[in-house]
Formats: sequence, structure tokens, C-alpha cells
Amino acid sequence: MNPVIALVGRPNVGKSTLFNRLTRSRDALVADFAGLTRDRKYGEGKVGGKPYIVIDTGGISGDENGIDSAMAGQSLLAIEEADIVLFLVDGRAGLTVADQMIAQHLREKGKDAWLIVNKTDGADPDVIVAEFYALGMERSPIAIAAAHGRNVTAMIQHILEPFPEPNEEEDELHDQLKHKGVRIGVIGRPNVGKSTLVNRILGEERVVVYDQPGTTRDAISIPFERDGQEYTLIDTAGIRRRKNVTEIAEKFSIIKTLEAVRECNVAVMVIDARTGIVEQDLHLLDFVLQSGRALVIAVNKWDGLDVDVKDKIKEDVDRRLGFVNYADVHFISALHGTGVGHLYKSINNAFKSAMSHWQTNRLTTILEDVVKEHQPPIVRGRRIKLRYAHQGGKNPPIIVVHGSQTDSIPESYKRYLTNTFRKVLKVKGTPIRFEFRSGH
Ligand code: GDP
Ligand code: GDP
Repeated sequence: MNPVIALVGRPNVGKSTLFNRLTRSRDALVADFAGLTRDRKYGEGKVGGKPYIVIDTGGISGDENGIDSAMAGQSLLAIEEADIVLFLVDGRAGLTVADQMIAQHLREKGKDAWLIVNKTDGADPDVIVAEFYALGMERSPIAIAAAHGRNVTAMIQHILEPFPEPNEEEDELHDQLKHKGVRIGVIGRPNVGKSTLVNRILGEERVVVYDQPGTTRDAISIPFERDGQEYTLIDTAGIRRRKNVTEIAEKFSIIKTLEAVRECNVAVMVIDARTGIVEQDLHLLDFVLQSGRALVIAVNKWDGLDVDVKDKIKEDVDRRLGFVNYADVHFISALHGTGVGHLYKSINNAFKSAMSHWQTNRLTTILEDVVKEHQPPIVRGRRIKLRYAHQGGKNPPIIVVHGSQTDSIPESYKRYLTNTFRKVLKVKGTPIRFEFRSGH
């Protein structure tokens, strides 16, 4: 698993500026879990062939209430999940009491933190960092200017030095062993019934390999077979860990959820019918949507509910989950096994759609029909032209459309295009992405 870097520090020292720099790569998977985790933000980046995950912890104010109350929350969790802590201070503002309190706290936690002095532009970095030695950190401070990108890459390279570069060949072999067949990620808030569902699924099927140590943070992969089809369950709930009473209290890990979504082909999002759809469910679903993974929704604990409660939930699903309306919704009871078998049909269909391969000819023919039916508008005296289309990726399927003035295609036309392609290609259970290229 990639190293996890947490950015901590009081507000305004430049954490989000640095976060943005570190996650700038084109396909950075950025999850904004506002609400779910207050201000925590997760992103991915890569430097010198080494991928990493960054968490922006939001601010630790260190006000008169003391650091403990502030840090006891999300920042602390993020720090615990992290392999590397970057403790940011503001070189312009100079050393503050709040900085001292944060330093003290990190020392108490025994966290190996790097002191990063930001905003060292426009002055001699050596002079600016001098006063921060007073924080008594083990390592010398590193001067950067996040806003200008100065020393940022070198700094990250330096702190990632002890972490090995991933070995692509080995990883691929590992992936092949670990990820057989359709990779299913079971995700959802704590207590919605994920482990019950995972146990139910595995209890019914032949588990091919079961024993896999995994660290507490890693999601565990469990291959199994059903009707001759191979699957791998990526379990975030930790069915094995659950057996250990002392670890029942293990916290809901967003890193684990992120990993599971990234590693899966199809996410099975579990929602608790007893609590109904809550804000956190919407954040997680939005994250899955952004990730482009295929999706099946399982509304769990459907047993023993009154008819009017059931009706209300169904209505809620229709009304609030419209933004992921490509996903099949199942009403199940993981506890009793009702409806669980039906999930497979949706999972298989979603997988098939997500992994489809379409010929350029076929896509271009559909595009021509789409344009014939409704021409794109005229912009600056010239009609937008859409000439041909080819496939640019899988899981999610990406369709690249070439033409002229494609920057000016209105949203409504893009929607029309998407809907038509989706219908003609019979794409189910997965988002479908369009990229537009103009030129030559
Ligand atoms: P956060 O609250 O710690 O996330 O801080 P922000 O990233 O929002 O930055 C706070 C302010 O400091 C913003 O106005 C940034 O533009 C500014 N800032 C960030 N990095 C630098 C830097 O390297 N140099 C200077 N001069 N300003 C910076
Ligand atoms: P997780 O935290 O998402 O893994 O949730 P668990 O699988 O540990 O389930 C949380 C609680 O919900 C447990 O007490 C389960 O017995 C209960 N539960 C799970 N699935 C169902 C279900 O289908 N119906 C009912 N009534 N309870 C369930």
C-alpha cells in the first residue's frame, strides 16, 4: 500500500495550498469528505515513480481550550492513519504558541513528524527557519514555499526516500493473485451491515483462499467462486478482525474505503434501511461516482419493516439517489440472506458494462446518428463539429470524441450524447465518461 502523508498545522499555514500541489497529477483521486469527516480531504499524488496518499487534516487551532479537544477529533485520526506527518508552520508569521502545542502533542503521540516551514518566499530561508529549531523536533526543519512550488518536490522526494519504489512486475503478479475475476468492494458507513453481508456471501460460496494477514489498515481481499465465475471480495469491514473482541471498536477507516473503491471493479454500497439515507451515504456515493467505479446499491436490514417504512425508503431512494441512477438498487437482509443472491446479476452486468470494448467504427456510427438526430449548436458563426469517437479507457468506460470547437459543447448536449450512447450501448451499472478533443 502506498505511504500516507498527513498534513497538520494551525489554520492558514498553507496546508491546502500544499495539498493541491501534492495532488496535482491529472488523475489524482480527490475525495472531499466534508461533513463525513469535517475538513478532512484525501488525494493521491506521485513523485519520482513513488505514489502516495495525502490527507489534509483541516486546521488545528490550538486555542485556549487546548490542543487535546481540537486534535482529539478528525486530525488525530488522520495522524494515526498516516505513515508520515508533515507539520506545517508559517515562516511569515513566525513561531506561535499554537505551533508549540502541536509540537508537544506530536511528541506525546510518539509520531515521527517532519517540520515544514512554509511561505519562505521573499526572504532567506535559512534565516526564517532558524527560530523554529526552538520547537525541538528531531529533524531539522525544511523550508518550502507551497504557493510557488519551491522545494516542494525535493522535500517530498526526501521524505519518501525510505519508502521503496513499487515494483511494477511484482505488483502485477500480486494483483493477479489477489484480484481474480470480478473485484467487489463492499463499502458503507459503520454498522450498516457490511460484515454481515460479507459473511453471508462467503458463507454461501466456496472460498478459495482465506488466510491473508494484512495490516489493520489494508483492506483484505478474499477470492471466491460462484456458478463458475471468479470473484474477489475487498473487505473493508474486516470479517476476520471482527472475531477479535478487542478490535471490534476499530474505527471506520476512510483510507480503507478509498483503497477498496480504487481496487474494486464494482462497489457494493450498503445503506441501512433502519436509519434511512443519511448525509454520509451521499458523500460516499459521490466519491464512488467520482472514482468512476461501477456501482450496486444494497439497502440492507429490509427484514421486519412496516410497509409504510418500506414505501418511505423507496421514495427516498428515488428522490435522493438520482445522481447515481445508473446503479441497480436491491432491498436485502444480510442477516437472513434475503435478496443477497440477486446482487450477483447486477454485479455481473455492471462489470460487463464497465469492462466493455467497443470498436471505433461502432462508436463513430453512433456519434453520426446522434448528430443527425440533433445537430450541435452554432458557436461564433460556425457549427460545432463532432467527427469520430473512439474508446479511451475501461472501468469507467471513456469515450473520446474528436471534432472542432468541442470546448463550446453545451452541457445539455453532452447529456443528450451521454444518454444516447448509454442506451444504444446498453451500459448498465457504471458511469460513462466523455472526453472531447478539438483540432487538426
Ligand atoms: P491552510 O488553512 O493551512 O490550508 O492554509 P491555505 O493553504 O489556505 O493558505 C493560507 C494562505 O497562505 C493563503 O492565502 C495562501 O495563498 C497563502 N500561502 C500558502 N502558501 C504560501 C507561500 O508559500 N507563500 C506565501 N507568501 N503565501 C502562501
Ligand atoms: P458493519 O459495521 O457495516 O460491518 O455492520 P455489521 O455487519 O457489523 O452489522 C451491524 C449490526 O446490524 C449488527 O448488529 C448486525 O447483526 C445488524 N444487521 C446486519 N445486517 C442486518 C439485517 O439484514 N437485518 C437486521 N435486522 N440487522 C442486521
